[in-house]
Amino acid sequence: MGNFDRKNVYLFYKKTPELMPKIDQLHELGRKQGFHLVDDYRDANIIASVGGDASFLQAIRKTGFQEDALYLGINSGQLGFYTDFDIDNIQRIQESIENDMTKVFRYPVIEVNVDDQKSFFCINECSIRSNIIKTFAIDVYIDDLHFETFRGDGLVVSTPTGSTAYNKSLNGAVVDPDLGAMQLTEISSLNNNEYRTLGSPLILGDRELRLNIVQNGNDHPIISADNEALPIRNCHKVRIKLADRQVKTLKLKDNSFFHKVKKSFL
Ligand code: NAP
Ligand code: MN
Repeated sequence: MGNFDRKNVYLFYKKTPELMPKIDQLHELGRKQGFHLVDDYRDANIIASVGGDASFLQAIRKTGFQEDALYLGINSGQLGFYTDFDIDNIQRIQESIENDMTKVFRYPVIEVNVDDQKSFFCINECSIRSNIIKTFAIDVYIDDLHFETFRGDGLVVSTPTGSTAYNKSLNGAVVDPDLGAMQLTEISSLNNNEYRTLGSPLILGDRELRLNIVQNGNDHPIISADNEALPIRNCHKVRIKLADRQVKTLKLKDNSFFHKVKKSFL
């Protein structure tokens, strides 16, 4: 497999007393197998996170959604959506790679732009929420069409792999990651004679979603990129579309997205 030719690995993990002995073991196995551990993720062709989904999300974010690198999630707790390998069974990681039990999956990500500043990517979702008890209002545009004026707690735009996370709590649909799509869901919309929103989750393809925050006093929402809050104060407009890039991740063949959905929810 071409991806393993150079075998430069960057490990992303939280240095906790419980994890460190296992990280040392991982280092040792890596060395034996001819992997080279690098200190700078920019030199890596494999970026491995150790932890849960949260750690995988952080690994991708902190390494800037590398297009060329192969991401790999190693579990240190219970089963995660993005983490197929197990820190307590390190030998199996190498075995499954050697025995053709793994496959590279490409996951769609969304690209978000806030007030024409630098764009960023999300692999789960971008959420925009009121940061006070009062509702706030958003004019929602699909491409250039003014679609609705939302009033309520907030909106979430998720990717297919993010569809099983926050999106699912909001009764959004679970979406096959083979589809290039993004999903808009509402957080407690106000619906009456004055305000009306679609009310159901909306799945979009190659379009631009524009969220214009109505500047009526409550215009300091909390904006999240996956599991991180953005340090943005006043916000006018958020533009979201499917990104040109995808995230490549190494997974077990017998643990596809729908295996995981079944294991977790059924
Ligand atoms: P968290 O609040 O500690 O945990 C949220 C849970 O979601 C964890 O069990 C996490 O797994 C899991 N998770 C993360 N990505 C997932 C995915 N794509 N599909 C299914 N489950 C997923 O926060 P966190 O661990 O840092 O995760 C951040 C995510 O939490 C956000 O991206 C958002 O999707 C989600 N979230 C959900 C709600 C909600 O449902 N009401 C509210 C806010 C945020 P691990 O334990 O393995 O990390
Ligand atoms: Mn968590």
